[in-house]
Amino acid sequence: MRLFWLGFAVGVLSAFAFAWGYQKVNHVLELSRMATCGSSLDAVHLIVHVYSEHHRGEFPLTLDEVKSELQANPEARGGCPKARDEFPPNEGWRSYLYIPPRKDAPDDTPILLCWRHPELIAVTKNGALKRWHK
Ligand SMILES: [Zn+2]
Repeated sequence: MRLFWLGFAVGVLSAFAFAWGYQKVNHVLELSRMATCGSSLDAVHLIVHVYSEHHRGEFPLTLDEVKSELQANPEARGGCPKARDEFPPNEGWRSYLYIPPRKDAPDDTPILLCWRHPELIAVTKNGALKRWHK
């Protein structure tokens, strides 16, 4: 009987350890996806920023205006790793919400957003990466 309870305890403990390990691995994978997404957001921001420098501070109205630049950049065209199946391989940047800022908008205005992670990731007008816990 004692052996039964020992076996039971070991079973329960390994189930917990497995669940914990699984969550841990999932958490690490999610952190890596958020990092990839952040690099892609950075790359997209750089492209719209360069556009604004050539257009007296005006940002493109839609990302389609800089489509060829986005498709030429490996990180920008990759887009969010959580949306890889939703868009053609060279149009991953469509996974982001782009809100064109007014020329005189404050520097910390979020202009590119990804909502597919446990944290909301955004790049501001001046290129800072911000994250908010949902
Ligand atoms: Zn993302």
